[in-house]
Amino acid sequence: MNPATSSSRFNRLSFKDGDSAEVLSIQREADSAGSQRPNRVYAEPARQTPVFAETEVLVVGGGPAGCAAAVAAARAGAQVLLVERYGHLGGLSTGGLVFWIDRMTDWAGKQVIAGVAVDILDRLPSDSVVGPPREDWGSRDPAKNAYWGQRSASFRDTVTWAPKVDPEWLKIVSLDMLREAGVRLLLHAWAVAPILEGTALRGAIFESKEGRHAILAKVVVDASGDGDIYAGAGAAYSAEVDTASMHHCVNTAWTWGGVDMERWLRFRREEREAVARIRDQGRAEIGEVEFPYSSWRPDVALFLGPRLTGYSPVKVEDLTAIEIESRQWMVKLLAFFREHCPGFEQAWIMQTAQETGIRHSRRLGSLQPICKADWELGRRYPDEVGVSPSLTPAFASVSVPYRSLIPAEIDGLLAPGRHIGCDTSSHTFMREIPQCWLTGQAAGVGAAVAVRGDTEPRNVDVRRVQAELRRQGVYLQVPAETGSVAEVAGPR
Ligand SMILES: Cc1cc2nc3c(=O)[nH]c(=O)nc-3n(C[C@H](O)[C@H](O)[C@H](O)COP(=O)(O)OP(=O)(O)OC[C@H]3O[C@@H](n4cnc5c(N)ncnc54)[C@H](O)[C@@H]3O)c2cc1C
Repeated sequence: MNPATSSSRFNRLSFKDGDSAEVLSIQREADSAGSQRPNRVYAEPARQTPVFAETEVLVVGGGPAGCAAAVAAARAGAQVLLVERYGHLGGLSTGGLVFWIDRMTDWAGKQVIAGVAVDILDRLPSDSVVGPPREDWGSRDPAKNAYWGQRSASFRDTVTWAPKVDPEWLKIVSLDMLREAGVRLLLHAWAVAPILEGTALRGAIFESKEGRHAILAKVVVDASGDGDIYAGAGAAYSAEVDTASMHHCVNTAWTWGGVDMERWLRFRREEREAVARIRDQGRAEIGEVEFPYSSWRPDVALFLGPRLTGYSPVKVEDLTAIEIESRQWMVKLLAFFREHCPGFEQAWIMQTAQETGIRHSRRLGSLQPICKADWELGRRYPDEVGVSPSLTPAFASVSVPYRSLIPAEIDGLLAPGRHIGCDTSSHTFMREIPQCWLTGQAAGVGAAVAVRGDTEPRNVDVRRVQAELRRQGVYLQVPAETGSVAEVAGPR
């Protein structure tokens, strides 16, 4: 598709996101011109690829999952190298401007996603984190929920630990943590192909300004978010999404500076009829109005839309179109906000995201996908490596099995983060940043334990993984003595 000729129409999704009961999405209409790719191939000459490095654990991708995996593997004693295609760490949580770190507490206010999540947030300077004080986590006090509800930290009438952070500090802290743990880091390095020995992954090819190089590894952690490595290696995955929810939507997020968010939030709270009029006027003038989220500063607003639908997050022309359409939409919205919305008269474009906002692309065909049918019953897996808050107070916290990170067929590989093995319902929360820290940390420890035991990730003694995770501050519900992964997974 030629992005310049794409057209779209507005669409409404009923999924509840933050404080908006109805979510705007923009449906791409099919471009009749289609992709203008010639139907030809070019036969590249065979080549010898120099080996750049040999390592025990190779982590591909430096987002929340990759950073947590690298730090955890190094803390567990492994030699670790991480490659990241951009010039910074944090993935969508920094470069994607998704600096609203979602819920880490259960309905009673207990922080169930801990470990690296605690380490990272504790290290941020106090003026770069805004969220409810610890004593209010789990509070059902109406006044506190009204206050934090406007700041995305109250859900189902419960105050949650869900802070907003300064993405630049998150980049710095992530970098500090990797360097202190002794992780070797290669930025501006794009992993482009797996290195396979039979059905076992033993490294990856990456490209950079220096050309094409190989990195050999005993275990690879694919934390690319889109399963780039496992898809290339031939692992089974699912790409189907629930198009009735917002979780398949894509967009480039942005921030505006020079705003008065307190004034805007007061206006939303106190002038409901005027707010409704603004929505109607926006729909009439520019098709739809997207309201902002608060940030870590009162003069910065965050927009996590427009939610574009009908695009593939792994097709280069669609990614191009998303960048164009998101920014075109932002410019229209800026003019509208400056004219009509109290607090936005002086707004200016502070930043548009470097990383395209992809919520959902591939999901691993893992040994044990996380499934709604299981967490609805409150099932606890014996190979639990983390605990996620549940979607509603009707359900117990969700047990995350080690096997959700392990591909059904490929050895030498773990896949934490938003492309983990789960169904579409579970993906709504397993893709969130804290859950990606959780699964990243579990994958890193699993990789280190596999390397130490000279075995494959699927064959590790899961008790050793759980013991190391506990040592690293991770909260687990299962008792310390459970079986090995091989025992609980059964024959291959
Ligand atoms: C618009 C939007 C709103 C969201 N809202 C929230 C929210 O409010 N709260 C919340 O907690 N979560 C939210 N999320 C979800 C969350 O941001 C992501 O799911 C999470 O960041 C995924 O982490 P990850 O490490 O798996 O992947 P990513 O954050 O995508 O990181 C992957 C990293 O790998 C790198 N990479 C990719 N491919 C390669 C390659 N081939 N070679 C080298 N490097 C590579 C990327 O550059 C990136 O740094 C939102 C997501 C979006 C898109």
